[in-house]
Amino acid sequence: MPDLPLVARGKVREVYDAGDGRLLLVASDRISAYDAVLPTPIPDKGRVLTALSVWWFDQLTPVLDSFGATHHLLSATDVPAEVAGRAMLVRRLDMLPVECVARGYLSGSGTAEYARTGSIRDVALPPGLVEGSRLPAPVFTPSTKAAVGEHDEAIDFLRVVDLVGAARAEELRELTLALYRRGAEIAAEAGILLADTKVEFGVDAGGGLVLGDEVLTPDSSRFWPASSWAPGAPQPSFDKQYVRDWLTSSGWDRVSPAPELPDDVVAATRERYVAAYEQLTGTPFV
Ligand code: ATP
Ligand code: MG
Repeated sequence: MPDLPLVARGKVREVYDAGDGRLLLVASDRISAYDAVLPTPIPDKGRVLTALSVWWFDQLTPVLDSFGATHHLLSATDVPAEVAGRAMLVRRLDMLPVECVARGYLSGSGTAEYARTGSIRDVALPPGLVEGSRLPAPVFTPSTKAAVGEHDEAIDFLRVVDLVGAARAEELRELTLALYRRGAEIAAEAGILLADTKVEFGVDAGGGLVLGDEVLTPDSSRFWPASSWAPGAPQPSFDKQYVRDWLTSSGWDRVSPAPELPDDVVAATRERYVAAYEQLTGTPFV
């Protein structure tokens, strides 16, 4: 690990102080599901997440420009050798306390909420939608950024207004949806449906809005192969849904320590992460 002060250790990343208002974000091979870190790492996952985020920051720059916003990436190459490929040097931000989620398709907790209320958050939806349905328009479904060990809590738009103010809340919603739309368009060209994604924003020293964290990775997004999309059941995916499904079938209660993943589940999960990278970027993962 780099010889820098450790600022924070998240479920997946170590965050180091790189001085001069910069952080070094190092993505490990740890995988989390249902808010728990699993005991078995996925080889190369940290490098896939980092390489994919770096690629997306570049792709999304025009969208950020159009909002007068920026991203936090300074360099993915000017990093200590021992974490090369897994690390990003970024601008240190004051992170906003909102996880900004955009959904273009109904899935997971979105399906459960819709089944109960006919809406997702404060957005009413037409009747008859099922798991995997495309939504009439992408919706902004934020949640709180939970403290370590806590679960993120679904919130509606007015709560975002309470947290960050009306103007910034509006900006977060519109920019999140614009990033989703552009991401979905690029993914579609690669034969992938971007079902949903989560982004995090921070504010820089000058008060500017900055896209931080990771972007449009299999950890932060649901990616479905477009060719096999068939609403009405869970979709095959390039993300960690495969691991969630295996955990469910293992009988794990989501409370006790998570079970070790068998070798074949590790290998199949690694394949999915690598396939997402290769299909989206059109370049081999090395
Ligand atoms: P938690 O930190 O609650 O465990 P997590 O598991 O998602 O959440 P990681 O992704 O492992 O966390 O760690 C990354 C952490 O760094 C997140 O808390 C994220 O909000 C924070 N972060 C990302 N980019 C920046 C930035 N530019 N400045 C400051 N903090 C950042
Ligand atoms: Mg994270």
